[in-house]
Amino acid sequence: MAELTAQTVKEAGYAAGLDGVGIANIERFKDAPPQMNVANIFPECRSVIVTMRRIPRGVYRGIEEGTHWSNYTYYGYNRLNTLFRPIGTYRLACFIEDHRWEAVPVYPGVAETEPTGEPLREGQVGPNVFPAIRIAAVAAGLGEMGWSKVFLTKRFGPRQRLGMILTDAELEPDPLIEPGSICNRCMACARECGGHAIPLPREGKTVQIQIEDKVYEWGDVDMGKCTLTHHGLNKEVSPFLSRDCPGLRLNVTEQEMSEEEAYKLCYTVAGGTWRKTDEFPTGNVVDYYKTMLQSTSYFAVCGANGCVRACMIDMERTGRTEGKFSEPFRKRPKWRLNHEGRIVE
Ligand code: SF4
Repeated sequence: MAELTAQTVKEAGYAAGLDGVGIANIERFKDAPPQMNVANIFPECRSVIVTMRRIPRGVYRGIEEGTHWSNYTYYGYNRLNTLFRPIGTYRLACFIEDHRWEAVPVYPGVAETEPTGEPLREGQVGPNVFPAIRIAAVAAGLGEMGWSKVFLTKRFGPRQRLGMILTDAELEPDPLIEPGSICNRCMACARECGGHAIPLPREGKTVQIQIEDKVYEWGDVDMGKCTLTHHGLNKEVSPFLSRDCPGLRLNVTEQEMSEEEAYKLCYTVAGGTWRKTDEFPTGNVVDYYKTMLQSTSYFAVCGANGCVRACMIDMERTGRTEGKFSEPFRKRPKWRLNHEGRIVE
């Protein structure tokens, strides 16, 4: 059997349907917090392979036009993260194991949201270690963090989802991307974010990491506001909340919720039922959210109008994505609602 190399891993990844494969050596993770450190999942890990599948630009079309939402949850989020991308990751893991090296496919979770138990052995961390997948992708040379914290690549801009394989095979790492070579801090993301969650540079809210000699910095996004918006409690982006809770007044800009608090509220509302009345005959608190939760266990509402759509539009307009389209994405003026759900002329 041919030797396993970075080149053969990449060729196998593309053959498995992936749109990108990047490789980091384990040394690039030495400063990761213990509960997020890949070495605490697989202590013999020598290489971290980050896998990527693109988000088709067209999954944003329906929300952009204000006429169709569900394909974004299916093809841009849930099924892309739980089916399309993992298939390629799984196939690549099998390819690596066919070469006699262990391959640990890791589904990207969120370290802070998983309860940690007592360590099962002395001197090690407790269960539920989850690496930060976007930082791993930076370490694997696939791209860099945009100001909005969305991961950016030269080929697709902000349109990809990521996975990971840990292996004890020693593979040639990819070079790191130069900080600032993809995100030019145009601030389109912050201006257009319906959740008003992305700070401007003058606010001084940033996050920094260092990998080897490179320092990456991005905006410290208000995840409470983002979650309230992404998961449907912001009438600036959700015609569904306006329709089913017409009297609700909740100005997201005034909220100071943690991400967890926002999740708790959003999922309670989305999964909620109430008695059927003439006023609300279906019995769901918000019909669309309940329907999506029942069919996919997920519902995405804002369509990333700042962190993906505005970013993508600016990157395409200024020729900064390698993936080209014949026509620009935005074809009509953007629709806008205020926090009461009323159309802004
Ligand atoms: S997901 Fe929506 S609310 Fe969150 S940062 Fe992106 S545009 Fe803003």
